[in-house]
Amino acid sequence: MTPKIARYLAEQQPATPCLIVDVDHVESRYRALQDAMPIAHIYYAVKANPAPEILRRLVDLGSCFDAASIGEIRQCLEAGASPKQISFGNTVKKISSIREAFERGVDLFVFDSEEELAKLAEHAPGTRVFCRLAVENEGADWPLSRKFGTTVEHAHELLLRAKDMGLEPYGLSFHVGSQQTNTAAYEAAIARVGMLFTDLSKAGLELKMINLGGGFPVRYRDDVPEIDQFGLAIGRAMTEHFGNALPQMLVEPGRFLVGEAGVVSAEVVLVSRRGGKESDPRWVYLDIGRFGGLAETEGEAIRYRFRTAHDGLPTGQTVVAGPSCDGVDIMYEKKRVDLPMALRSGDRVELLSTGAYVSTYCSTGFNGFAPLAEHYI
Ligand SMILES: *Cc1c(COP(=O)(O)O)cnc(C)c1O
Repeated sequence: MTPKIARYLAEQQPATPCLIVDVDHVESRYRALQDAMPIAHIYYAVKANPAPEILRRLVDLGSCFDAASIGEIRQCLEAGASPKQISFGNTVKKISSIREAFERGVDLFVFDSEEELAKLAEHAPGTRVFCRLAVENEGADWPLSRKFGTTVEHAHELLLRAKDMGLEPYGLSFHVGSQQTNTAAYEAAIARVGMLFTDLSKAGLELKMINLGGGFPVRYRDDVPEIDQFGLAIGRAMTEHFGNALPQMLVEPGRFLVGEAGVVSAEVVLVSRRGGKESDPRWVYLDIGRFGGLAETEGEAIRYRFRTAHDGLPTGQTVVAGPSCDGVDIMYEKKRVDLPMALRSGDRVELLSTGAYVSTYCSTGFNGFAPLAEHYI
């Protein structure tokens, strides 16, 4: 938690549940990433947190943006981004969205299938397109490889065809999975892209860009490698596979830029041992749950760290659940959380590193619970 957030919580005591984001911290992460990868162009993955305060700060810093929908493109433009700073990075786009993006001046689009390529050729003629490859997502807490990306052979074929369809085949992309804690995942993916660059060059097509996607991790309960280690591994792999002929490099960080900048402040609604015996598991119910924004606790994939006023006192293994009447609204049950035994109804607890993939994951009012309040400071 940043000192600014700690002060805000102490002084303002905002109503819970709420998310507080320190926008200065987003800026410091942006600078750290740029230092770790000096020649990479940063395209912020807007879906991680599309708050205008964040988008405006990143526009001021000269960031570009990876948008997943026409709504996100509009949000970037409203925040002051130029259409040339925006990549339409979802491989699944409605025709009406492609058209509107094209009319507004966006000229960089992704695809991973034949039909999407045909849609781009028809509705965004002449634009730059890049193909997403499927790569291993091992080491990632939140994998993406089942849904997106195609094979090297298919990408080869589609990129050659893109030229004949009047598009500019521009590059290749991948995503090693979100909260990727293994630098080797990037090295393996870069090797794959490097070979395809060479093969396409032999076939007469010189690609210009490699998009390394996002995935850079933040600290939840476990330590993760520093961003400099990712920078070193990526730099080494790029030199190994491309030599002096380095293509333009893009990165699309989402979680890394905003995750650690945010804290959720919540309240304990109930502490219970259903069954009443000491041997029964202890449950803590909070006023935020799976539907209030903590969707990444699905499968207990993302393991948030808790802070309470009783930290340092004796703890016990605890099941943590949300306030709704839905049976899946349980955050941690298989892997219980060590929480102070002194916790009682009405206590405040903080969930750290919740700046990414929380605010917009929240339901619009399931069970009568209001959407998560947000404060950008
Ligand atoms: C979600 C997403 C990202 C951001 O991933 P993080 O793991 O949050 O860095 C980047 N690129 C694409 C295409 C995405 O879908």
